[in-house]
Amino acid sequence: MMRKLKPITVNVEALISANKYNVDESNKHIELAAEDLSTLPAEEFGKLVRVCPAALYKERDDGSRSFDYAGCLECGTCRIACEGTILKKWESPQPGMGVMYRFG
Ligand code: SF4
Repeated sequence: MMRKLKPITVNVEALISANKYNVDESNKHIELAAEDLSTLPAEEFGKLVRVCPAALYKERDDGSRSFDYAGCLECGTCRIACEGTILKKWESPQPGMGVMYRFG
């Protein structure tokens, strides 16, 4: 008989909100293949929506999409998922820029 696992709930937003971000507005460290996100393939954009732990890639019920690199955790997951398809650029932010973790 299989044991039923209890779901684990983690409040990621509370943990993420403790971080500090120094956003480099003169140099986006992540860029997508098109400015108009509606032109990007749904399957590829859907991957980004699902994998980003900071939920920076959004697709709303009306089909509109958005992406904001400002809250990036620099984990590189979107790069692994979509580099070579709809991710045009992914690089580490310049020194002193980007996320500053509050938990280690
Ligand atoms: S590097 Fe990580 S946190 Fe940043 S946009 Fe990609 S998946 Fe999201």
